[in-house]
Amino acid sequence: MAALKVAVVGAGVVGLSTALCIAEAFPACSLTVIADRFTPNTTSDVAAGMLIPHTIPGTSLHVQKQWFKETFTYLFAISNSAEASEAGIHLVSGWQVFKSSPTEELPFWSDIVLGFRPMSEAELQKFPQHRCGQAFTTLKCDCPSYLLWLEKRLKAKGVQMYTRKVANLWELHSEYNIVVNCTGIGAHQLVGDQKLFPVRGQVLKVRAPWVKHFVRDGDGLTYIYPGIHNVTLGGTREKESWNLSPDPSTTKAIFDRCCSLEPSLQRAQDIKVKVGLRPSRVCVALHREVLSQGGAKLLVVHNYGHGSGGFSMHRGTAKEAAHLVGECIAALQGSSLRAKF
Ligand code: FAD
Repeated sequence: MAALKVAVVGAGVVGLSTALCIAEAFPACSLTVIADRFTPNTTSDVAAGMLIPHTIPGTSLHVQKQWFKETFTYLFAISNSAEASEAGIHLVSGWQVFKSSPTEELPFWSDIVLGFRPMSEAELQKFPQHRCGQAFTTLKCDCPSYLLWLEKRLKAKGVQMYTRKVANLWELHSEYNIVVNCTGIGAHQLVGDQKLFPVRGQVLKVRAPWVKHFVRDGDGLTYIYPGIHNVTLGGTREKESWNLSPDPSTTKAIFDRCCSLEPSLQRAQDIKVKVGLRPSRVCVALHREVLSQGGAKLLVVHNYGHGSGGFSMHRGTAKEAAHLVGECIAALQGSSLRAKF
């Protein structure tokens, strides 16, 4: 049987990591990544890239925890290797602070991040408007570096990359045996998923190299995430807004909120404003589908809708999507054997 041809549509963190898991698990397949945007022009490039999960209401906590654990373990190993600087992965310690006690005493991910503990009174003195908090160490991705690193690994495995907008998945059926849909918010149009909606996020990337600890307000709206090249200041969560233009009054509001948490940011320089649309859904779309037209079939695996947690969960969902691709391969090989006999 000739090598099966697999196309991954999407070159954000989900598409590239899914392609890498497929290339690792099924090296005999001919693999192609197709996307209308590559780094530095994807939503994934805008993200802060912190590994702090957000709870997804429609996916069981057990599954979310597994996805986060696999992602954390994978990136922790990279952070502990010579690849760390090129991949843009590093450990970062800091605080999540609350004005009133959080509803859940321990978040589901508290035993996966490192050294999770309540903040001490001395630490809380830094945040006079907050009553309590949690201290922990997690991982952060410099998103464009990580996407470039993933692309480099894929190219080294012989994976082809093409810039192309796909109008519908069926247009790929004559060229590919299996198509993996990792189009993020693009799936709203591509597969008409009405359950998928944007949550607009505006962030500032600033130069403030003296800021080394992250600070996240427990409401999830205000955060300061130091990275390799800049510090990400956030943010906004605007449900159903498709507007990709930065709003100057929001920029000022974000800056003021962050300065009230970390006054030294008043001296931050080189402020750049970025906007991205989180591909949000009640649960991640991670399943198989068979498309058919006039007796012809195309096997599809969907992996999109990671909302606010694409970086926090990407390796876990990529492994699961690769497993589904494995089921498609087995089905195709089974049907070609049946056709022979
Ligand atoms: P994208 O990065 O949007 O990639 C989609 C890909 O599909 C692109 O290559 C696009 O060109 C391609 N595509 C779409 N439609 C088509 C089509 N029709 N034809 C061809 N190609 C197509 N997550 C975290 O875990 N931690 C964070 O700290 C964090 N911070 C964030 C801050 C902000 C401001 C925002 C906006 C998001 C943040 N996120 C964070 C969420 C994270 O960015 C997303 O969950 C993640 O980027 C989704 O990745 P993706 O690969 O699914 O989508």
